[in-house]
Amino acid sequence: LTPARQNLYDLMDKVSRYYVHQLQNHPQRQAFQDYIQQRGLSAETVAAFDIGMAPDGWDNVLRTFGNNQQSQDQLFEAGMLIKNDKGRTYDRFRDRLMFPIRDRRGRVIAFGGRVIDADGTPKYLNSPETPIFHKGQELYGLYQARKANRRLESILIVEGYMDVIALAQFGINNAVATLGTATTSEHLRQLIRSAPEIIFCFDGDRAGKEAAWRAAENAMPILGGNFELKFMFLPEGQDPDTMVREQGAATFHQLVSQAQSYSDFFFATLLSRVDSQSMDGRARLVEIAKPYLRHIPAGLYRDMLEQQLADHAKTNIATLNKHLEKPAPPP
Ligand code: ATP
Ligand code: MN
Ligand code: MN
Ligand code: MN
Repeated sequence: LTPARQNLYDLMDKVSRYYVHQLQNHPQRQAFQDYIQQRGLSAETVAAFDIGMAPDGWDNVLRTFGNNQQSQDQLFEAGMLIKNDKGRTYDRFRDRLMFPIRDRRGRVIAFGGRVIDADGTPKYLNSPETPIFHKGQELYGLYQARKANRRLESILIVEGYMDVIALAQFGINNAVATLGTATTSEHLRQLIRSAPEIIFCFDGDRAGKEAAWRAAENAMPILGGNFELKFMFLPEGQDPDTMVREQGAATFHQLVSQAQSYSDFFFATLLSRVDSQSMDGRARLVEIAKPYLRHIPAGLYRDMLEQQLADHAKTNIATLNKHLEKPAPPP
């Protein structure tokens, strides 16, 4: 850990405390407190996630933490300041509810900020990539989930900050969110070190199904280890936050318990693309599955998927294997 990096961690920690302090003390805090209440968050939940408030204004953070050139450079490196083309420097986060993003050791490395009025844009603003924040590696809520559970049996991957937070408020303390990106194999590598079961939780709409398939594809290079991946889908129009608040934790738990296994989701998706009633469709199923199987490490898991593919195609494994190695014939 270089001194320069340590300085960034220290700075982010101070800014996070500042935002928390503003939420308790700033003259304009009431609108933020009202918003928090409207979203049903308790004081304990707000404290557990260190939710704060970036006041309106162009230079609150700049003035509070950037009183010399060196500290301004650090703020900029940490993603807290923006420089425009006219050379003007100002706060990135203004008039937003602030969610500090911690790494798995609990250090504040970035922020997400939400507008509190219905028509503000963008709804969420995240820190940019910085020397201490790489979106493709970090998971919002992982630190809190590990802290709340001595031993994690499973981890839920949800879409948003508010999903993680609302679930936690309802006692579901094992959710994490990717930060506006698809789940990467890097994310998964981290998660399987923390729990043996990882459950993707997506909207039940078309976009959710597509996001789930992308996650399934990204998971392929790590499949076959001592862990299980599952998929669950919420009713259309719901996210975990609205779901748990409207239906309660028991209903949510029930949906979790009905999550689909990786292989079931894999074949359900591929089967939906062909007419499996006909031999022709089943032959095409094999062709469609082939390139995916190549992304899965050789081993028992892939062998078992191939066996299942043979079953779905109503062929036998010897015939299937003859064709899996070969590329598809030219169209
Ligand atoms: P809320 O319930 O507060 O309206 P949400 O979490 O349901 O928010 P979605 O619109 O479902 O928000 O987006 C899911 C996640 O995607 C967000 O939590 C955020 O991390 C990310 N996201 C959404 N909109 C943006 C944006 N404009 N820029 C960057 N990230 C975004
Ligand atoms: Mn959606
Ligand atoms: Mn939401
Ligand atoms: Mn949502």
